[in-house]
Amino acid sequence: MASEFPRHLLDIESLRREQIEEVLGLAGRFKRERAAARAGKARAPRHQILPGRIVVTLFFEASTRTRSSFEVAAHALGAEVLSFQKDASSVTKGESLQDTVRNLEAIGADVLVVRHPAAGAPRAIARAVRASVINAGDGAHEHPTQALLDALTLREKLGTLEGKVISIVGDIAHSRVARSNVHCLSKLGSRVRVAGPSTLLPAGVEKLGCEVARTLPDALRDADAVMMLRIQQERIADARIPGTRDYARVWGLSARTLELLPPRAVVLHPGPVNRGVELSSEVMDGERSLVMDQVDSGVAVRMATLALCLGAA
Ligand code: ASP
Repeated sequence: MASEFPRHLLDIESLRREQIEEVLGLAGRFKRERAAARAGKARAPRHQILPGRIVVTLFFEASTRTRSSFEVAAHALGAEVLSFQKDASSVTKGESLQDTVRNLEAIGADVLVVRHPAAGAPRAIARAVRASVINAGDGAHEHPTQALLDALTLREKLGTLEGKVISIVGDIAHSRVARSNVHCLSKLGSRVRVAGPSTLLPAGVEKLGCEVARTLPDALRDADAVMMLRIQQERIADARIPGTRDYARVWGLSARTLELLPPRAVVLHPGPVNRGVELSSEVMDGERSLVMDQVDSGVAVRMATLALCLGAA
C-alpha cells in the first residue's frame, strides 16, 4: 500500500493518529536493528533507502541532539548530508531565507531539515521550494520529531500510551516541545497534564486538550510519566520569571520530590538539562530517567521521518 505520509513534516497538530503510528512503527524497527548491531548480535544494517539523496540540515538556532541525530539518521539511510552553517554562509551578507533555500535546492537538496527562531519559518520555506521540509523546531510553535521520539520512548516503556497520564512540567508557554507533545500524546490516547509557574502557563492552555495542575505534587500524583522542561530564557523578554534557585525549589525534580511520583513512573527531559534546576543529578542519572533512551529514539525517529517524507519507506 502506498504511504500517505505528507511530503513535509511541519507539525504534529495536522498529523492523523495513523500517520503518527506509521512513524513509530518504522522507528521502532530501526531502533531495534541499531540496538542489535551495537550489541554485536547483528551486522550494522545498511539501509540503502535514500541512496544519492541530499539532506541539508539548516539550523538558525543552537542544537546538540537534533542536528546530530538527523545527520546520523541520514547517513544510516545512505543519503548524503550537507550541514549548513549559518554564520559561515551568505546569510551574514544579507541573503534572505527564501533565496538561501532556493539556492540550496538548486545545489540538489531533496530534504531541508530546518530549525528557526521564528514560528512558521519551516512552513514558509515549504511554500518556496519543491524539496521536502522537516521542522526541527520553530520558535515556540512545534518540534514534531521531539514529540515522536518521546512517544516512541514512552510507548516502549509503558507498553501503550492509551489511558496513561503524562505530566509536562515547566515553561509550557514558550516550549515547542510541550505543544507538540500535547498534540501527539492526546492523539495516541493519553491524558496530558501540564504544570508550571503561572507566568509560564499560557492562558487557555486547556483548549489544546490537556488538564492543568497548579503545583508539582498535583502534577506528579497518579502520573505514569513526567516530562520536565527547561525555562526557555532565549524566548522570554520580560522579567516575570522565577529565579533559578526558587524555580528549582518549587518545580525541580529531586530525590525528595521524586517520592511524589508513583513508583513505576518514569522521567523524561528533551535536553538540554540544567542539572540542579529541572532535574537534580541524582534524578537525571537515576534508574527512572529515560533521558539517554530519548536520544537513542531520536536517531530512529529521524530515520523514519526522512524515509517517510521522501516516500521511500
Ligand atoms: N531541545 C529542545 C528544543 O529545541 C528543548 C529545549 O531547548 O529546551 O526545543
